[in-house]
Amino acid sequence: MPAADPYVPGHGNRRYAVRSYRLDLDYKVATNHLAGRAVLEIEALDELDQVALDLYGLNVSRVRVDGRQARYAHRERKLRITVASKAKRGGRLKVEVDYAGKPRPIPSVFGPVGWEELTDGVLVAAQPCGAPSWFPCNDRPDDKARYRFAVTVPDGYRVIANGRLEARDKRSGRTTWHYRQDEPMAPYLAVLHIGRYVSTALGENVELVHPRGVGVGAGTAFARQADMLDAFADLFGPYPFGRYTAVITEDELEIPLEAQTLSTFGANHVADGWENERLVAHELAHQWFGNSLTVTAWKDIWLHEGFACYSEWLWSEASGRRSAAEWASEYHRRLAALPHDLVLGAPGRELMFDDRVYKRGALTLHALRCELGDRFFPMLQDWTASNRWSTVTTAAFVAHVQRYTETDVASLIDTWVYRAPLPPPR
Ligand SMILES: [Zn+2]
Repeated sequence: MPAADPYVPGHGNRRYAVRSYRLDLDYKVATNHLAGRAVLEIEALDELDQVALDLYGLNVSRVRVDGRQARYAHRERKLRITVASKAKRGGRLKVEVDYAGKPRPIPSVFGPVGWEELTDGVLVAAQPCGAPSWFPCNDRPDDKARYRFAVTVPDGYRVIANGRLEARDKRSGRTTWHYRQDEPMAPYLAVLHIGRYVSTALGENVELVHPRGVGVGAGTAFARQADMLDAFADLFGPYPFGRYTAVITEDELEIPLEAQTLSTFGANHVADGWENERLVAHELAHQWFGNSLTVTAWKDIWLHEGFACYSEWLWSEASGRRSAAEWASEYHRRLAALPHDLVLGAPGRELMFDDRVYKRGALTLHALRCELGDRFFPMLQDWTASNRWSTVTTAAFVAHVQRYTETDVASLIDTWVYRAPLPPPR
């Protein structure tokens, strides 16, 4: 079976698409024990006698297809389920998987990804291939689905998942937290946070979730989170989801990470100062570029990271600090001094998260802004509107930008995105 995406070999399957996930999970924090049932509504994209899901390191006890017990084999990272009466192309299947165990991160060329135990709780950081560490899924960035979560934890812990908190049921010392994510979401963007958190509202539909002892108001990197959201909505078009939550863990984290409708930061990212504030801007920008508009294949990661990096410079400009042009000339100088052996539009999986992808991606956008002038932001707003909650490619972006200029965009993009040498500064 060919890999769905060569950057994450062995993950994903192209013969079916998942329309919805329902995850009923029970978690014991003290022992890191997870017991769950995943219910997936699947559409066959091909004649289907088997559904191959991605699931790592957890034990499957029962599988049902359309209510009937099904045969399955779970080896390595694949759960292969036999579909007794073949599904026709376009046919729908309901797959239920009962599973349990002690989730752990998935080793990968990107380091361990997915489920991560904290000192007193859990987070999920699944980019790009960590989703199977906690639920059976079709682990492809371009297979977006709706999600429902019902997560039971001991009282005293708060659960944060994607989307909207619908209800909380308390029962004999345990609470079930119900979330729903209606806008389609890629599996790697599904997350769970469990911790002793409190919530602070920062404006309508913007909140910070943090340990009680961590201050989050004025004088921190999050002080202008709500203004930042408004500024980005002006530049990029309406915020694509109902709510935005920044979760700050009690533990320090190496890097923050985006998920759909929320971002994760460590306690070390709270202090005031540009280095933290630019990360707050970066993760927020991913709601448009990465989460609402998600790459079809990971080789196009610059469509996430280049845009998020450029958004840091745009926030700098919007908040009265250095202009994007100043950042662009500084980073052009810095990139010029580094090896020119990376092709932005095909960095290879080892260099997929190389900082040069971020900075050169941002410089590419700056070059387009110089070319398009006043039409740059309308172009960007149409890009986010016409591809909202969907998937994108570099080719689609080139075709889109071409509508806004007489300049040959394909040639311009070619020098920035598909050639290794650094084009001259703008
Ligand atoms: Zn990023």
